[in-house]
Parts: sequence; structure tokens; C-alpha cells
Amino acid sequence: MHNFTYIGLPMRVVFGAGSAGELAAEVERLGAKRVLLLCTPGRAGMARSLADRLPLAGVFDQAVMHTPLELVEQARRQATAAKADCCVVVGGGSTIGFAKAIAITSGLPIVAVPTTYSGSEMTTIWGVSEGRAKKTGRDAKVLPKAVIYDPQLTLGLPPAVSAASGMNAMAHCVEALYAHDGNPIISLMAEEGIHALSAALPKINVNAEDLEARTDALYGAWLAGCTIGTTSVALHHKLCHVLGGFGLPHAETHAIVLPHAVRYNNDAAPEAMGRIRKALGGVSEASAGLYDLQKRLGLPLRLSDIGMQEADLERAAHMAAEAPYPNPRKVEYEPVLKLLRDAYEGRRPARPIFVE
Ligand code: NAD
Repeated sequence: MHNFTYIGLPMRVVFGAGSAGELAAEVERLGAKRVLLLCTPGRAGMARSLADRLPLAGVFDQAVMHTPLELVEQARRQATAAKADCCVVVGGGSTIGFAKAIAITSGLPIVAVPTTYSGSEMTTIWGVSEGRAKKTGRDAKVLPKAVIYDPQLTLGLPPAVSAASGMNAMAHCVEALYAHDGNPIISLMAEEGIHALSAALPKINVNAEDLEARTDALYGAWLAGCTIGTTSVALHHKLCHVLGGFGLPHAETHAIVLPHAVRYNNDAAPEAMGRIRKALGGVSEASAGLYDLQKRLGLPLRLSDIGMQEADLERAAHMAAEAPYPNPRKVEYEPVLKLLRDAYEGRRPARPIFVE
């Protein structure tokens, strides 16, 4: 075992079917008297029904993807006008992003009720976009004070969205396993997260209302959020960030790129690969195992399926190779371009050369 540094983020988690009923008590624990409720237009009904016992001072129900600055400013003005002393957010990573964007300038505490598997509620990472550029950072201020995971709220998450969001969570676990600042505790969470998600997602695909599978998937997503909360991401997340700049959808991009990024790092991270294979149920190759899962879930397999233009592959490879960041295998233009071509064409990752 190597020397390591472990960071545990302060976090209160209330977990389980029906736990959304604890929302008012969690807000009261913080001593909050004026809540700003945040959601997307699509989650507004659910959010309002959960908030009936809250001291509501306002509702911002206009959250969208990518936290665009104009809308963030509007949400911040609304928080100020309502004299809010707490943000309650009900929704996925996009909506949680709005609560964080408010917290970063105001310091308002957040109580989060996640309804997808993004894991954002477990991290200090915030991001606000201006045009095509996204400014991101880490700040303890944006970490929710309490998180309520109620799988009942996820029963209506469409199977395709669930699958892509779940693969996004899986990507957090995978990269934590080979992060340069990883540690044995986070690796335990990451392995358990991959195990829980990979077992639950196929069941959800067959029956979206399978509460047991929904519970397991949300547990996996929580662990995934913990892993990304205190480790640095590597090639996979950086590539997905670059591809996001070409307008590709977040979770689906993660799902498609993941097997190929794992293939890229296979020979340089043997211990992580062993853990991924085990967590996927004893498959013979980590990258192919992830690809097969993605296929079984009916997710798109090609970047070309989700709007990537072939002409942009070289530019994306340059962007990914030029920004320096730690990754188990050196990030270089030619092999990254090959990775992107394989992902563009949706090829099943070939058998790695490395043999344990
Ligand atoms: P999302 O929040 O955009 O939600 C996806 C869709 O699902 C939306 O249309 C939403 O209205 C709908 N939806 C959400 N919950 C639902 C439910 N229970 N039932 C039915 N429909 C529901 O997607 P996401 O994948 O959760 O989040 C992606 C965003 O999160 C990205 O912008 C990403 O950058 C960010 N993110 C941030 C972090 C972080 O640490 N800061 C981590 C992961 C992801």
C-alpha cells in the first residue's frame, strides 16, 4: 500500500424510500426560516409537493442545463429579494448547479434532494457558463449541508436518462480508482459504487419502477459522488468536458467515452482495472465489460449518434492533449485521436495487450 492523504467532506445524508418526508426537519435543523426552492420546470410539481411544510420564501423553477450566467444572476436576485436564508434544491445535477451558483456568492446553505445519479450533491465543484465557456472551481461553501436520497423520487426518471446518468456516476468511480490522489478508502467506495450501479441499471431498464433497484442505484450514485468529491479526475472527464464544448449531451457523452478511456488507461492502471472487472461481476476486461453494459442498457454507442461531427475529432484531440493533467498513461495527441475515432464509430474496445 502506498502513502496517501484522505479527505472526508462534512456531510449529513438521509437515505431511503420515503426519506423526502424528512425535508422540513432537515431545514429546521439548520435554523432556516426563509427557503428558496429550486427546480426545473419539469420537476416543479414534485418540488412543490415536497415543500408543503417548508417556510417557503420563493421558488425558482427555471433551472436548465449548463448553469448559464444570465439565469444564474436571475436566481441570485430572486434569493436576495426573498431574503432567503437557505436553498432547497430538488432535481438533477443541472438544478443542483444553480443552488451552488447561488451559494458561491451568498454563502447560503443548501439542502439537496437529488433525483438523478449525477453525484453533484456530494462535491464542492461548481460551474457557471458564459456563452460556450464554462468557469468551474471547488469551494467548500457550495457543499450541501444535508442531502436526502429518496429513491421513490427517481421512479419516474426515464430508463434512458437513468442509464446515461448512471454511467456518468460509474465514470466518477472508475476515475477515482486510478486518480493520482486516490486512496484505499475512496477505492472501496468506488468499487462498491460500480458494483451497485452495474447491478441496478439493467433492472431499471426492464422496470423503471423497481424500487429495490432504484435504491441500489441511488446508493451507488451517492458513493460515486463521494469519490469524485475528493479526488482529481483524469482523461475521461477532461475529454467529456472538451466534447461538452461541442454541444454534446453530458451524461450520454460520459457513457460513450468511458469504455474507450478505460481502454486507453488499461495497461497503466492494472490495480484499478482489476477492481473494475471484479465490480462488474468478474468480466475478463474492464473496458469491454463497460461497453457491453452500455449496449445492454440500450444507450447510444457512437459519438456520431449524439451529434459529434467527424471533422471536429482532431480539434477535440488537440484540446484534450494540450491541457496538462495527471492521468495514468501519458495523454498524447495520436492515441487520444484514436480513442475518439473508436468512440465516434462505437467500436467495442479491442483486447488490451497487457496480460496480468
Ligand atoms: P439533469 O439535471 O440535466 O437532468 C436530466 C433530465 O432529467 C432533465 O430534463 C430533468 O428535468 C430530468 N429529471 C431529473 N430528475 C427526474 C426525475 N426524478 N424524474 C423525471 N425526470 C427527471 O442531468 P444530470 O445528469 O443529473 O446532471 C448533469 C449536469 O450535472 C451537468 O451539467 C454536469 O456538468 C453536472 N454535474 C456536476 C457535478 C459537480 O460535482 N459539480 C457532478 C456531476 C454532474
